[in-house]
Amino acid sequence: MPHNDGHWHYAAVLMGSPVRLTLAKPREALAASVFRLIKQYEDLLTVNRADSQVMAINHAAGHHPVAVSRPVFELIRRARAASLLPDSAFNLAIGPLVKRWRIGFRGDSVPPAHELSALLPLTRPDAVLLDEAAGSVMLARPGMEIDLGAIAKGYIADRVRDFLRREGVVRGVINLGGNVQTLGSGWSIGLKRPFAGGDALVGALEVGDRSVVTSGTYERYFEQDGQRYHHILDPRTGYPLDNELDSVTIISADSIDGDIWTTLIYGMGVSQGCAALRERPDIEAIFVTRDRRVILSSSRQFRFRLLDDDYRLTDSTA
Ligand code: FAD
Ligand code: MG
Repeated sequence: MPHNDGHWHYAAVLMGSPVRLTLAKPREALAASVFRLIKQYEDLLTVNRADSQVMAINHAAGHHPVAVSRPVFELIRRARAASLLPDSAFNLAIGPLVKRWRIGFRGDSVPPAHELSALLPLTRPDAVLLDEAAGSVMLARPGMEIDLGAIAKGYIADRVRDFLRREGVVRGVINLGGNVQTLGSGWSIGLKRPFAGGDALVGALEVGDRSVVTSGTYERYFEQDGQRYHHILDPRTGYPLDNELDSVTIISADSIDGDIWTTLIYGMGVSQGCAALRERPDIEAIFVTRDRRVILSSSRQFRFRLLDDDYRLTDSTA
């Protein structure tokens, strides 16, 4: 149900996430089209139901290639390339580990170490075989599984932005639960305070025509024996990535880059992450650390305001 606070808001639950569309004018039919578009991509890409194109690839692991539609092929190609970067924490073949941990789904618990180490050989990104001419994907070994959970929302946010532009929308925001893509300038995007729950904010960014992607260890996790286990896994160990970060936010033009980089940066931590971003002026990060610091790698594309006195704002050199 839309309501007006200067903007019009439309909400849905898609991809297991709260989805929110904000427009400058009431456009009921357009909002319905946006949610339909997201649903179409979800149906192609999901690994939470047996019948998507990605699941067809997974079911055929070790047996035969599967021809997929162009967007699915392109997204897998992109995800594979990100996975093959040197020391990349991003891994599109992480599926067997994600499925075993079940973090954020019913029945999550810490798997025995020997089970995790047995799954590691099934997560090699170079064993995702692409046939450009046939538009097909094959997983080299039985038991392998692609999981696009760390990149698909970013890809879809960009497709929604493109669709809105084609429909003549000049001001709007699509939020896919952590992946925010903005059209037009002067938007204020809140940054959640980790583990505070609800609407508590650490700060807010002012941006325009940019994507803002946040990935946090506070979003999906469970606790066992006083230890917290979150949903971003280290492909090198099979366990959740363990470092000083509570969340990372990436500001970039395209949300797919933001989604890839949140995972890459989670693997690097603050100082290595800042060093890597010095080579990429188009991509900027906001780190929120466990010891309550907020660190900006740089801030050319946005303005940041700290809103929580418990946190300190420092720059990357501090
Ligand atoms: P990100 O940090 O961007 O990604 C974390 C996710 O990526 C993990 O949840 C895991 O799936 C995967 N991952 C973990 N470690 C790595 C790694 N090292 N490299 C690469 N990937 C990694 N949730 C539901 O509860 N129910 C649903 O039915 C459901 N359907 C979905 C359908 C689609 C098409 C998509 C894209 C997501 C769906 N989700 C669903 C949400 C999904 O399970 C993840 O929670 C979500 O994608 C995480 O996104 P994020 O931006 O919060 O985190
Ligand atoms: Mg991501």
